Amino acid sequence: MTRAILAATLAAGLAMTAACGSDDERVPNVATGDRSLTIGIKFDQPGLSVMQDSGLPKGFDADTARYIADKLHVKPEKITWKQTPTDQREKMLTAGAVDFIVASYSITADRMRQVSFAGPYLVAGQDLLVRTDENGITRAEDLDGRTVCSAEGSTSADTIRKDFSPGANLTTRENYSACVDDLLAGRVDAVSTDDVILAGYAAQHPDRLRVVGRPFTRERYGVGVKKGNTELQGQITSALQEMIADGSWQRSMTVNLTPSGYRPMPAPAVFNAPDKQVAAGNITELDPELVRAVDQVADLANKQDWEAFSRLTCAETTDAIDRFLMQYTPQYDENLGAEAKDTTFTFTINGISQVGPDTATFLARETFSKVPDKYKQYFKDIDYTGTMNRRDGEWKLCALAADFVEP
Ligand code: GLU
Repeated sequence: MTRAILAATLAAGLAMTAACGSDDERVPNVATGDRSLTIGIKFDQPGLSVMQDSGLPKGFDADTARYIADKLHVKPEKITWKQTPTDQREKMLTAGAVDFIVASYSITADRMRQVSFAGPYLVAGQDLLVRTDENGITRAEDLDGRTVCSAEGSTSADTIRKDFSPGANLTTRENYSACVDDLLAGRVDAVSTDDVILAGYAAQHPDRLRVVGRPFTRERYGVGVKKGNTELQGQITSALQEMIADGSWQRSMTVNLTPSGYRPMPAPAVFNAPDKQVAAGNITELDPELVRAVDQVADLANKQDWEAFSRLTCAETTDAIDRFLMQYTPQYDENLGAEAKDTTFTFTINGISQVGPDTATFLARETFSKVPDKYKQYFKDIDYTGTMNRRDGEWKLCALAADFVEP
């Protein structure tokens, strides 16, 4: 993938990580005194997290949770593991039943209204699990007239409902292992959720189950925290960034996920998925140079002039753009290939808010058109929040966060 191609969309997930203070400041509110944590996790998702007889969960999500706990100076024996089924997660965070959740938890605009996320730390895609003797299901459109099982409250069930029902007959269960039992028993024709989860079940039954392998959404996993706990959100973000940077992310991936045949997307650029800000300012009252700089960002995003665009960003964030683009610009996903080549987009600034002489944010939206039907899950419009800072007299784009617009 060339930089010129990457330029096609502006999507810089530039981490505006709160500056980390001393180690002592990096202790979450919840972990004062003898520093304990209650962490929400799945108990039945092989590869990501399975509760073992020892009382310790095993898998990539479990490793991620332990890594975060360690960075928060919480000893492994001070962690209480709580099962957080898919449709209980927002409730449990809101009620304070868990301090944070690491459980194949997709960041969505809808969930961000109820909880806050740190991440993403993994990018997956919704796919289908079928019996090995199934010949009629090669992609999601083939679900017409067939039965498919997913977990209640999941993005997976939502997508089937929105895009493939009533043709597909959806049944929901509390968790995916119940769906897999149904599939093995012949009660349903397919199980649908994220490829990374399905790969774990397929690896348990290699002779009987297989993943179809044509993901039709993009799921960005975040660590859920109670809505508005920005301190913990920032600490977890830093921990996730360190986990990727020091090789622990890749090591856990290699031990837990790639043996199942799962081929992961590269490690994402981690940022604090910020809670949505509504900050449309009155453009005429803003520093005109700021307005010009923001206009230029939009202009170049639309013109696909990457080399020029990179000059508008802060030096420390420039390199994050390549990786971040991968998460939000599906048209460059090799798997989608030529079928998505006619898709176009428009990047529009919807508001600028100057909060000080050298600081401002802007809101923007990227809308796609000419999207082939089968890829519409990938090409959801994207909302961006950009942070502009004046450095050495020049306004630069120093952070940019994004999330898909939920219909
Ligand atoms: N990532 C999807 C979600 O958060 C599906 C996996 C799950 O249910 O945990 O809804």
